[in-house]
Amino acid sequence: MVSRVIPVDPFDLVVFGGTGDLARRKILPGLYRRFRDGQIPETAQIIGAARSDMDAAAYRKQVAAALGEFLPARLLDKTRVQAFLDRIAYVKIDATGTGGWTDLKGKMRTGHVQVFYFSVAPGLFGGIAERLHKYKIAREGARIVAEKPFGNDLETARALNETLARYFGEHQIYRIDHYLGKETVQNLMAVRFGNMLFEPLWKNQYIDHVQITVAETVGVGGRGTYYDKSGAMRDMVQNHLMQLLCLTAMEPPSRFEPDAVRDEKLKVIRALEPVREGDIVRGQYLAGEVGGEATPSYLADVENAASLTESFVAMKVHVANWRWNGTPFYLRTGKRMKSRLSEIVVRFKEPPHSIFDEDTGQSANELRIRLQPNEGMDLSVTIKEPGPGGMRLMNVPLDMTFAEALGEEATDVPDAYERLIMDVIRGNQTLFMRGDEVEAAWAWTDPIISSWEAREARPAEYETGSTGPEEALILMHRDGRRWRELEA
Ligand code: NAD
Repeated sequence: MVSRVIPVDPFDLVVFGGTGDLARRKILPGLYRRFRDGQIPETAQIIGAARSDMDAAAYRKQVAAALGEFLPARLLDKTRVQAFLDRIAYVKIDATGTGGWTDLKGKMRTGHVQVFYFSVAPGLFGGIAERLHKYKIAREGARIVAEKPFGNDLETARALNETLARYFGEHQIYRIDHYLGKETVQNLMAVRFGNMLFEPLWKNQYIDHVQITVAETVGVGGRGTYYDKSGAMRDMVQNHLMQLLCLTAMEPPSRFEPDAVRDEKLKVIRALEPVREGDIVRGQYLAGEVGGEATPSYLADVENAASLTESFVAMKVHVANWRWNGTPFYLRTGKRMKSRLSEIVVRFKEPPHSIFDEDTGQSANELRIRLQPNEGMDLSVTIKEPGPGGMRLMNVPLDMTFAEALGEEATDVPDAYERLIMDVIRGNQTLFMRGDEVEAAWAWTDPIISSWEAREARPAEYETGSTGPEEALILMHRDGRRWRELEA
């Protein structure tokens, strides 16, 4: 079962930061895959724009190297790679100065969709937007893509929104959160709103609680200096976990259209209650061992023995509306944890009255939406254990693993980035965050962070390769619940 590939319109796509890590790992390999599948027209142009002094031929070599490094060899047939490289140009540009902008203007063609991808530090977004306007490079209808982090708090996010709004309308701004480009996340909407089965049960009356976990096994690595100013709350919760929460908790939009979907997500963020101090656990990982190699502690990784920044956070969150009153959402995310896993678990209530004996083995249904690894969903249902042993019950998963449903094609399911870039070219903002949504998320996050800062609260320690600090387990246990095991 292969999905149809509908070609996008011819475009000029400028990647600011075209020599950077994100461009090499995700954006360029993603574009190649779309090109290889015939989704990108032969007349498209991709322009790398960065500080390095080089010509197009040298840049193409870098792009070819990135494709070789980040894509499986079976996707790299020579003629397609060459045809892709032929679509690539390069401009040496200074985001904060005057060099390169006239060159860039000279490369723009009329009648093509214009996309400017800001894959640079957010501090450069304003300068680039201003120059695209000043040098009359961006035409009406041009689109800009803003990478994360979108601000560091409400004030900086608002300032960034205001700066971009000076040169571009909201309909032109695509704030990327790559979690929204994941197949399963979109499938969550398909499952919720495309079936009669779930939506009637999707409420406090039938759902006991929801767990959202984004666990990583890596530490902060080379990003220590950046990460230490950010922490798990800003780096993961304010954006990725918040988006997952919104899609799980939102009301059905009237149509699957950008503003209809984003209005509903915004209502969820605005309905979030402030989190009580006792409902949050923060942690920092200790030195340990991964795959037989010694790994440093968080404090050593960020080279700041006095750091109070969290590499783990778990919290209990309430969405204060009719649908969710009394049904908490538990969020957790951390680095150096036991496994790499992102999932949403919707735990239904037990049947109100059991007709079976207590020891028959009945338990509550669980819908598990797996973002990684092994994207898919499964629903645990209770059935009778086969055989003559009397009425004994067992839980079996109704498995909706995409790899099985799609067979071999599953390995070629588009990465979140490539899907989102195609949406930008199509002009579809549904899976991108609107300015007011980002600001509302910061408005909820800011007081939590400032209260930690005011108290100079020290995060709890946790073992590398664990499920986080003991306190995070207690957060659930005291409510008579427990986190789902961290296993794929
Ligand atoms: P990077 O440091 O690897 O690359 C930065 C790029 O910006 C380089 O191409 C550099 O030439 C260019 N640049 C820097 N200063 C410039 C200037 N004055 N004028 C023109 N070009 C300039 O960074 P990255 O990891 O690729 O990240 C880029 C953006 O994407 C950042 O906002 C980052 O937060 C975000 N992001 C990155 C990742 C990732 O996995 N790398 C993930 C999510 C978000």
